[in-house]
Amino acid sequence: MLGNSFLNNIGGELKLSFSGEEFEKYNPADQNQLIGKFQKSNIEDLEEAVKIAKIAFKTWKNTPAPQRAEILYKAAEITSAEKNKLAEILTQETGKPLIEALGEIQEVIDTYLFFAGEGRRLYGMTGQSELYNKSIITIRQPIGICGLISAWNFPSAVPSWKIAPALISGNVIILKPSEKAPLSGYLLIENLYKAGLPKGCASIIFGYGDLGQAMAEHDDIKVISLTGSTTIGKKVSEICGAKLKKCALELGGKNAIVALEDANQALLLEGILWGAFGTAGQRCTSTSRLILQKSDWNKSFIEKLIKAANNLKIGNGLNQVNQIGPLISAEHREKVNDFVSRAVKDGAKLICGGQKLESGDLKNGYFYAPTILTDVKPEMEIAKQEVFGPVLSIIEVNSFEEAIEIANNTDYGLSLAIYTQNINLAMQSTNQLEAGLTYINAPTIGAECGGASAFGGWKNTGNGSREGGILALDTYTQYKTIYLDYSEKLQKAQID
Ligand code: NAD
Repeated sequence: MLGNSFLNNIGGELKLSFSGEEFEKYNPADQNQLIGKFQKSNIEDLEEAVKIAKIAFKTWKNTPAPQRAEILYKAAEITSAEKNKLAEILTQETGKPLIEALGEIQEVIDTYLFFAGEGRRLYGMTGQSELYNKSIITIRQPIGICGLISAWNFPSAVPSWKIAPALISGNVIILKPSEKAPLSGYLLIENLYKAGLPKGCASIIFGYGDLGQAMAEHDDIKVISLTGSTTIGKKVSEICGAKLKKCALELGGKNAIVALEDANQALLLEGILWGAFGTAGQRCTSTSRLILQKSDWNKSFIEKLIKAANNLKIGNGLNQVNQIGPLISAEHREKVNDFVSRAVKDGAKLICGGQKLESGDLKNGYFYAPTILTDVKPEMEIAKQEVFGPVLSIIEVNSFEEAIEIANNTDYGLSLAIYTQNINLAMQSTNQLEAGLTYINAPTIGAECGGASAFGGWKNTGNGSREGGILALDTYTQYKTIYLDYSEKLQKAQID
C-alpha cells in the first residue's frame, strides 16, 4: 500500500482530481521512503464533494440515530481488527513511535464507541411551561455539510473526534486532512464505507491550505471544524465570522507543569519526560515549560532530568526500542532550532540537546535532540510562543502564587498541570489556572474520550468549542424548541 497513488474518495467513489496534479508525502524518519502520492485537489473537486454530500444529507439526517450508530459500532470493530496495520502506517506517516500510534488508533476506537452510544441518547431538554396543558422540549438537529480540516500530528484521532459526533448527529462530512499526513484520514473514510456508511455521507479530498480556505468560504458547507495553528485558526475564523458560519477551532498551546517544593520528584521526572519529549514535543498539549518552585532539590533534580533526557532512545518509531521519533519536516526542524538559538541569545542557558541529530541511523530523518533550557525568564519568546518540538524551558519561581501567575502568562490556554502533595494548593490551582485542561500530579498530555471529558482550550487556543466528549455535539447540532399545547384553547404566554 505505501508508495501508491491515493485518489480522493468522493462520497465512496475514488476520483482523480480535476487539477491533474499530485503531491508526494515522505516518511519524516526516512526521507527516502515514499508514503504515497496524493491528489492535489482544487475547487472543482470540492464542488463535486459538496454536490454529493447535499444529496446524501437528505436521507442521512432522517435515518434514526440508533441506525447511524450501527455504522460507528461496525467502524470501531473494523478499526480494532486493523489496529496494528493502521498504527504501523501512522508511525511511518508521522514518525511517532509505534506504541503511541497504537494508542492513537485506540483513541479512534474509543471515540467511535462513545459517539455510537450517543445514537441512543443525543439528549435535548424538557421543561415546564408557565401555562396549563402545555409542554416544552428542546431537541438537537443536524446542520448539514461539515467541513473538517485537520492538523498532521494526530491524523487519525483528530479527524475521528470530528467525524463521529458529526455523523451520529445526522450531518454529512468532507474531510481535508493535513497535506503533511494525508493517508491515515483516507483509511478512516475507507473503513467507514466498509462499515456500511451510505454513499455520499463522507468524502476526503487531499490538498493544501487553499483547499481548506475554499471549504471555509463555501456557502453550502455549514460548519467548519479546524484543528491547527492559531494563525490559521484566526484566518478561518474571520471567513466564517463574515458568513455567520458555525466554526469550531482547536488551536495551539504553550503548556506548563508547575512543580511545587513538596512534589513527588520521581513522579515529576517521569511526567516531564513524557509530557515534554513524547511525540517529540509535537502535541498541542506538550509540556513546554517547567515552572519550578525554588528548593534545595532543584539542582540535583535538573541533573537527573538531563541524564534521563540524554538516555531517551531516538530513532525510527517502528523499532520499538525507540521512544522519540523525528520532527515532521526539515523546515519544521529548522524552526525549532531557530527558537532554541534565539532563546540562548535572549539569555537562556542551554543545558541539554539543542542540536539536529544527523548521523548514523538518523541521517535520513528530521531528528532533534531532547532539549532543556534554564534561566528562562517569563517574558522571553521561548516562554511564550509555541515551539512544537522537544524543547523544555525551566523557569524558577519563589512561591505558589508566582507559579500560577507565570503559568497563565501566555496567550494560549490549553493544558496546565501541577505537581504537589498539598491538596489545598492543588485544588486552588484548578480554580486559578487559565486553561481548558488542568492536571494534578500528571503531565499536560493524556486527554481521554468520554462523557465528562471535554478537550479544548481557553484564550488563543480556540473559540470555546470542545472535542472528545459529549460537548462536541454542540458543534454539530443546532437546537430546536418545540412547544406542545394540548389545552384546546388559545393560551397567551406572559399574558394569561
Ligand atoms: P496548520 O495550521 O499549519 O494546518 C492545519 C490545517 O489547516 C491543515 O490541514 C492545513 O492544510 C490547513 N490550512 C492551512 N492554511 C489554511 C487556510 N488558510 N484556510 C483553511 N485551512 C488551512 O497546523 P499543523 O502544522 O498541521 O498542526 C500543528 C498545529 O496544530 C499546532 O499549532 C498544534 O498546537 C495544533 N494542534 C491543535 C490541537 C488541538 O486540539 N488544540 C490538536 C493538534 C494540533
